[in-house]
Amino acid sequence: MRVLVVGGGPAGVTAAIALGRAGIDALVLEREETDRPVGIGLALQNSPLRALDTLGLLAPVVERGFPLDAVHICAPDGTVVHRVFTEPLVPGTPPVVALSRVALAGILGEALAATPGAEIRFGTSVTALRDLGDGVEADLTDGSTERVDLVVGADGLHSSVRGLVLPDAPPPTRAGQLIWRVSAPRPPEVDRYLLTDLGPRGRVGIVPIADDELYLWFLQPDDGGPRPPEGQRLAALRERLAPFGGLVPLVAERLRPDVDHRGLAAMLLPPPWHRGRVVLIGDAAHTTTPHIAYGVGMAIEDSVVLAEELGNAASVEAALAAFSARRFERCRLVVETSLQLSRWEVDPPADPTLHHQLTGRALAALSEPL
Ligand SMILES: Cc1cc2nc3c(=O)[nH]c(=O)nc-3n(C[C@H](O)[C@H](O)[C@H](O)COP(=O)(O)OP(=O)(O)OC[C@H]3O[C@@H](n4cnc5c(N)ncnc54)[C@H](O)[C@@H]3O)c2cc1C
Repeated sequence: MRVLVVGGGPAGVTAAIALGRAGIDALVLEREETDRPVGIGLALQNSPLRALDTLGLLAPVVERGFPLDAVHICAPDGTVVHRVFTEPLVPGTPPVVALSRVALAGILGEALAATPGAEIRFGTSVTALRDLGDGVEADLTDGSTERVDLVVGADGLHSSVRGLVLPDAPPPTRAGQLIWRVSAPRPPEVDRYLLTDLGPRGRVGIVPIADDELYLWFLQPDDGGPRPPEGQRLAALRERLAPFGGLVPLVAERLRPDVDHRGLAAMLLPPPWHRGRVVLIGDAAHTTTPHIAYGVGMAIEDSVVLAEELGNAASVEAALAAFSARRFERCRLVVETSLQLSRWEVDPPADPTLHHQLTGRALAALSEPL
């Protein structure tokens, strides 16, 4: 069996690795000329770490990332007032690992290169897909045509594959919050995930992602006002961080000038996530806001489940139906929980503990087997 995977992000590359382990060949098309992950760092929760373990990739992730025991919720002066814990699902490993996006892309790229039957072609995409019943013919931007058994659309939030096969899919919606993301050298004092909430003035997270590196995110309501131009972003972010105490001033001094700034979006495709022999995975099928840090996690889980179903089912059609049936409720839990948390951050509920309670319940439910 041969599969064409469109998109070389976390979803597409883990899909090719997982398919390779099930004896299925995969050609990944990535439209960028090189591997250039967008963003700085990310956290992988216990269940995606378990999924990476099944692909033999947990050890390098733990080695190149930073183990986290909990999210430490801080008062404005930095005092820890609450901790959000999850349990490790692979004995002897951390429950959460944070790492740089470049490090994750490096681990996945190396694993793909070592997977028999898997290949990635940069600077290439698809222009047309023709469903032939027992396969798909795909026209590629390099002028060639591929005849494959299945196409996996792993091309992210603005998926072209989704546009080709599900033109009436619901469009992504804006979540009403802006996020700022930036890196800094890690001072030794920042040895855990710290989160401080100042209500309408915003929330800041400081996340160690390597021995010498950290990642800071800042979330605020999207008031629709003008965005600071690139050269003024660092100063604008420092101004917004000024009311925060604890370790925030120390980190704010060290921030690098390259600040990413964007509105958050969400999207959940109703099931099934396939038409004929074209299936969508990762952000192309479900994009979440980052409130429980599960976007890449869902992408990795999708890949593992898709490969399991293709390896076990009696037919490709049965495998694809089983795939979205197994994945939908879980992805809905992530997308809807994250959106609710986002709404509460813009318009806080009377009981401020609701936020941690909902987060804890969702993370516990997501710790169940896939
Ligand atoms: C601010 C923020 C913070 C986040 N933090 C976390 C976190 O802590 N933990 C976590 O698990 N998740 C996090 N996420 C979510 C995570 O980044 C996404 O869910 C994840 O990147 C989705 O992976 P993907 O491979 O489906 O899509 P993408 O990462 O978008 O990758 C899609 C790939 O396809 C390529 N592509 C696009 N169109 C085409 C085409 N037509 N042809 C060929 N290639 C194409 C793109 O170049 C890209 O390489 C965060 C997201 C945001 C916005």
